[in-house]
Amino acid sequence: MGESLIDLRVLGCHGGRLPGHRTTCLSVDGKLALDGGALCEALPLEELLRIDHVVLTHAHFDHVQGIPLLADLLIGQREEPVIIHGSPACIETLRRDVFNDRLWPDFTKLPSARRPVLRLEPFEVGRSFQLDGYSITTRLVNHPVEAVGLLVEKDGSALAMSGDTGPTEPFWELVNGARKLGALFLETSFPDALSELAEASGHLTPRLLRAEIEAKLRRSGVPIQIYHLKPAYSAKLHEEIAALRLPGVRVLEDDDRLRF
Ligand SMILES: [Zn+2]
Ligand SMILES: [Zn+2]
Repeated sequence: MGESLIDLRVLGCHGGRLPGHRTTCLSVDGKLALDGGALCEALPLEELLRIDHVVLTHAHFDHVQGIPLLADLLIGQREEPVIIHGSPACIETLRRDVFNDRLWPDFTKLPSARRPVLRLEPFEVGRSFQLDGYSITTRLVNHPVEAVGLLVEKDGSALAMSGDTGPTEPFWELVNGARKLGALFLETSFPDALSELAEASGHLTPRLLRAEIEAKLRRSGVPIQIYHLKPAYSAKLHEEIAALRLPGVRVLEDDDRLRF
């Protein structure tokens, strides 16, 4: 296939829901989704059917909300299961707390145990795994539940995504060590006035974002896309992030399309 670019589409990039604000879900080449927030809200059925893999950063609700609805939507529509990749704790949460035949049916056994619509597949945190021409490398980040940052590489291009995290080290080693990097997605959730809340909940504020970038990013020229803004603080966050005047940093929007 040679060197090919990544075609990234933002199905959702917020840390919560309001009209005009969908939760985190990035589509890579229309085949692979990173997080499963707005999975069922941004694509028509025929495009959803092309997504064979969802890679999760963690099991928090805003990142997995689309998965139970996707399973229900696609039942009987696919020959092969959609494979949901997550850390061991993340997969365990989905099994025990979502697909438990109480909150939602166990779609890993429907329509039949032999040919289910969904497969839950744990990955080993800190390692790389391959899927469909992509190499995915994960690093543990700083969040109240087991959560990872991701490096997604294919032959011609790569992206890194922080997941939900407060200040962290291992993710930056991944970013700095990547062979090439076309885009860097970093979370920022709460305005500076809520720094105590951000710290307690494992998130960044604009001030913490700047400190992370200035102290830890050791490569230049990578466009930085800020995401996971909490919708109730959207205006304040836009203002504070703009005021940082960090070169190459912009706030991501739903339906953005990036090629790199
Ligand atoms: Zn989140
Ligand atoms: Zn979270």
